[in-house]
Amino acid sequence: MNNPKSSILIIYTGGTIGMKTDAATGALVPFDFSGIYDEFPSLKRLNIDIDVQTMSPVIDSSNVSPANWLALAALIRDNYARYDGFVVLHGTDTMSYTASALSFLFENLAKPVVFTGSQIPIGVLRTDGRENLITAIEIAGARIDGRPAVPEVSLYFQNRLFRANRTTKRSAEALNAFRSYNYPPLAEVGVNIAYNLPAILRPESGGPELRCAERLADGIVVIKLFPGMDQRVFNAMLSAPGVRAVVLETFGAGNAPTSEWFIRTLQEAIGRGVIVLNITQCGGGKVSMELYETGLRLQKAGVLCGYDMTTEAAVTKLMYVLGLGLPEDQTRALLRKPLRGEFSA
Ligand code: ASP
Repeated sequence: MNNPKSSILIIYTGGTIGMKTDAATGALVPFDFSGIYDEFPSLKRLNIDIDVQTMSPVIDSSNVSPANWLALAALIRDNYARYDGFVVLHGTDTMSYTASALSFLFENLAKPVVFTGSQIPIGVLRTDGRENLITAIEIAGARIDGRPAVPEVSLYFQNRLFRANRTTKRSAEALNAFRSYNYPPLAEVGVNIAYNLPAILRPESGGPELRCAERLADGIVVIKLFPGMDQRVFNAMLSAPGVRAVVLETFGAGNAPTSEWFIRTLQEAIGRGVIVLNITQCGGGKVSMELYETGLRLQKAGVLCGYDMTTEAAVTKLMYVLGLGLPEDQTRALLRKPLRGEFSA
């Protein structure tokens, strides 16, 4: 039996994918996605109805803020019943942050939200944006056994679909700019789209309705350790006004110096209610604080384990969880468990 026609909302937020070369001047000018069928008539052959909305203002993704994430999430929530899936076109520079944030903001998501962008503007002949856009639309509209094929927040780039909160931008040059070091692709695209079904999150049918959080906390800081870190600077970062949580990027499997001043500074911050989440600065692999004395000292000081989370997921998860305004023990409990498949323990 043929699947019924899907309807997709494309949301353009900005970034390189939305640029084309002006025929008269040769300069890069914004591409008008509302004329998408004129530009790509072949889209009509997909069994998918497409609407387009453009966020205002359109931004370079380096200017994105949590306020933009909340506005984007609200737009999807308000259109959730009307569409079968969503494609978000976003600048590549911070796409993994935005997509990770959206994954946390939506609870009980049961429809696809596919992020994509491009390294070369869509209106340039050699663009990677065309394939990224068309395949993202196809994935957002795909059904398997009558149900959405990928009902989670994902990121499609150069032949691979990833769980969004597992991704990170790794190249400012290569067309395969994104990596998911610690979780397999949700789909690989060649002649066909091969979905990796066991890897995809799937809500129970008839499960609870979508909930969309409306607050993200501030006061998050990322501290990347390096040999020779200055005691005064480290102390100043942890005791800066407004700091509520620290993503501590440690060495290897979650290791850090055992010097007395370092551990004491962390303990004092944790004693003041600051949350410290340990993730590794290695791309692949995970934090395991029991492995070495250098990790065990952190655990004893009250540092939480971030397992194999990306920096992008750790930052946005902290914003989301702290934004819920729960008592400290419940906040720490939510940080200890995966909420949207963001880590493997
Ligand atoms: N600076 C652009 C952005 O992130 C780069 C891109 O889209 O690839 O908005």
